[in-house]
Amino acid sequence: MFDVVVVGGGPAGLNAALVSGRQRRRVLLLDSGAPRNAPAQETHMLLSRDGLSPAALREAGQADLRAYPSVETRSAEVIDASAIASGFELALADGGRERARKLVLATGQTDVLADVPGLAERFGRSVFHCPFCHGYEAREQPIAVLGADFPSVMLALYVADRFSGDVVLCGNGQAPPDEHRERLEKAGVAVRDERVTEVRGEFGALELCLEGGRPLARGAVFHRTRIRQHSDLAERLGCELLPDGCVRVNEFQQTSVRGVYAAGDMARLEALPDAMTFVVMGAADGARAAIWADQELFREDAGLAAPGAG
Ligand SMILES: Cc1cc2nc3c(=O)[nH]c(=O)nc-3n(C[C@H](O)[C@H](O)[C@H](O)COP(=O)(O)OP(=O)(O)OC[C@H]3O[C@@H](n4cnc5c(N)ncnc54)[C@H](O)[C@@H]3O)c2cc1C
Repeated sequence: MFDVVVVGGGPAGLNAALVSGRQRRRVLLLDSGAPRNAPAQETHMLLSRDGLSPAALREAGQADLRAYPSVETRSAEVIDASAIASGFELALADGGRERARKLVLATGQTDVLADVPGLAERFGRSVFHCPFCHGYEAREQPIAVLGADFPSVMLALYVADRFSGDVVLCGNGQAPPDEHRERLEKAGVAVRDERVTEVRGEFGALELCLEGGRPLARGAVFHRTRIRQHSDLAERLGCELLPDGCVRVNEFQQTSVRGVYAAGDMARLEALPDAMTFVVMGAADGARAAIWADQELFREDAGLAAPGAG
């Protein structure tokens, strides 16, 4: 029986394991090795590590954990989880079973891209989802924003305001809402409604093939992906989800199931208008989850009331 099992070894899970290990908790970190930012070459907006590759950041996080003898890490996928009298039991894809008094879920989200040939292969390298993560690298490039819905319009207006004087909103067979046409025009954002049949080329020299027309030359593409839970473990455990699919947590990173914490991209406070899906936020969530899981264990053992309301 571990004190804490952390599921997911991205920034949120690694930091949760680090904080728990430093409190000499018996910790098991299980990770299936497919982090969200794996396609990217660099991680940005991380104090003292700006520009480090995602793989190097994970390796550094894993190296930190090796200093703490009560922390075990394992490559494994968790396929099921359920409550038992003393805590939780996890079923692993390799047939193994593990038990923990507290669970920290940090399984992240995955991106679903528009179905355009050539788009997915370029994700994270010349097709970007976030102007905070990659806008600076695409500065002064001719940019295409793919999509015609309100979030795509906002993204086009934003990159035109911050990063480039040459932005084209490519609706991919759809037109942006009429009420935004004038706003786009005023911001100097051109609109193309044709279907995009392919994206080819490299960063700085991309071509978007438009149905029935000549290819559009661009340096970079921005695209609001749809994000969805990487794992259904939270749902299996009965944790409440918010309408956008994020796991609802409180200020202690507690889910609606007592003893189950959630951290990183997968979870958010209901009061936030949107999930804050950044590495530094995930690491902070992971620390918060570990601190309060530790306090819950401590208070339980001392016969005191647990923190938070769940
Ligand atoms: C292309 C791209 C570039 C980005 N660039 C930046 C950037 O520059 N700066 C920035 O701050 N943010 C960036 N982000 C966002 C950043 O990747 C996320 O905010 C961050 O990875 C969230 O960390 P996490 O620990 O919550 O999840 P993840 O990093 O996604 O880690 C989750 C881990 O859980 C594992 N897992 C999932 N299910 C299971 C299971 N059932 N059993 C075991 N393990 C499981 C996964 O394999 C994965 O290793 C980028 C995102 C993308 C898509």
